[in-house]
Amino acid sequence: MIPYGRQDISQQDIDAVTHVLQSDFLTQGPKVPLFEQAIMDVCGAKYAAAVNSATSALHIACLALGLKPDDWLWTTPNTFVASANCGLYCGAKVDFVDIDPKTYNLSAQKLAKKLEVAEKQGRLPKIVVPVHLSGQSCDMQAIHALSKKYGFKIIEDGSHAIGGRYQGKPIGNCRYSDITVFSFHPVKIVTSAEGGMAVTNDPKLAERLELFRSHGVTRDEQLMSKPADGPWYYEQIELGYNYRMTDLQAALGVSQMQRLECFIQDRHQIAQRYDQLLSDLPLTLPWQHPDNYSAMHLYVIRLQLDKIAKTYLEVFDALREASILVNLHYIPVHTHPFYQRMGFKLGDFPESEQYYKEAISLPMFPSLTEEQQDYVVSVLKEQLS
Ligand SMILES: *Cc1c(COP(=O)(O)O)cnc(C)c1O
Repeated sequence: MIPYGRQDISQQDIDAVTHVLQSDFLTQGPKVPLFEQAIMDVCGAKYAAAVNSATSALHIACLALGLKPDDWLWTTPNTFVASANCGLYCGAKVDFVDIDPKTYNLSAQKLAKKLEVAEKQGRLPKIVVPVHLSGQSCDMQAIHALSKKYGFKIIEDGSHAIGGRYQGKPIGNCRYSDITVFSFHPVKIVTSAEGGMAVTNDPKLAERLELFRSHGVTRDEQLMSKPADGPWYYEQIELGYNYRMTDLQAALGVSQMQRLECFIQDRHQIAQRYDQLLSDLPLTLPWQHPDNYSAMHLYVIRLQLDKIAKTYLEVFDALREASILVNLHYIPVHTHPFYQRMGFKLGDFPESEQYYKEAISLPMFPSLTEEQQDYVVSVLKEQLS
């Protein structure tokens, strides 16, 4: 079996987790702030809040930015459902902006058009969530300029993108956004088993992220409404959640972060090799905007179906039957039954729907060997000839 993505666990990772098991703190100990620091060091943001998943990070990011019932959150249809669900958790309404045909990311042009219409209808979004698909940044400069014109906030969903760069600067520096979130699920670039993080440069937002990740409870006297009754005292000042990361997870994350650069280099090497080996086939290969150095989470090919005798499903099934666990990222969010019940229809976001008919994520992870890669290419070639 060759999966499309998998974690890379070293003896050092194992030792780091074991060490925590033998220590005083399994959670709320010293490893979480260390992991937060490691992420801040790489992405250049000033504050970080580690949580138990990127889904939780998206939720507390929306809460910190004050997303309320009847507000609008916009994102791309070409993402995991969590990028949209975070708006619904807050009681807000969700809408989508179709993708750019070359990067498959939320299109800044289509966003501009949709904002123009929304302004006239008095339904401008409070938050827009651009998703850096495959680890390639969206056109953040353009999206940021639109946020200034129309007054919305930006949460970058960088679940695929830790270690990637945009305009020469690390993704997550929040130069063009309010908050960036990362995921540390095992298929992502670095893992903490389950885990996520929200980073920001705004101290007020950082304070709110920290509140919402742990019950809305504070021990900071500056935030309390009464003087402390004693050393045990804390106050709940918001309705928060238990979204905390454990020290076991954070220790794994810290250890993994030491290999971040190697992981990304390996991924780029694999991508370059795919680029060469697949160049003569009836495929559209991933295109990189020159502003970007992708974290290369996914290697997505699109079948040029008009040049291929087989159907999409036949090619996909043949790869799976050959024990190559290719995948499809993503089912357009608005086509899920839950979202269709909210009134979205097939045809609403044609670019994402067309992509869904053609895209395949090939195996892409640091330990993928050249032999495995050659095998993937040979099975694909056989199918496309
Ligand atoms: C994986 C992923 C998420 C959710 O991450 P979890 O850590 O599993 O909650 C959100 N958005 C995108 C784009 C993802 O790929």
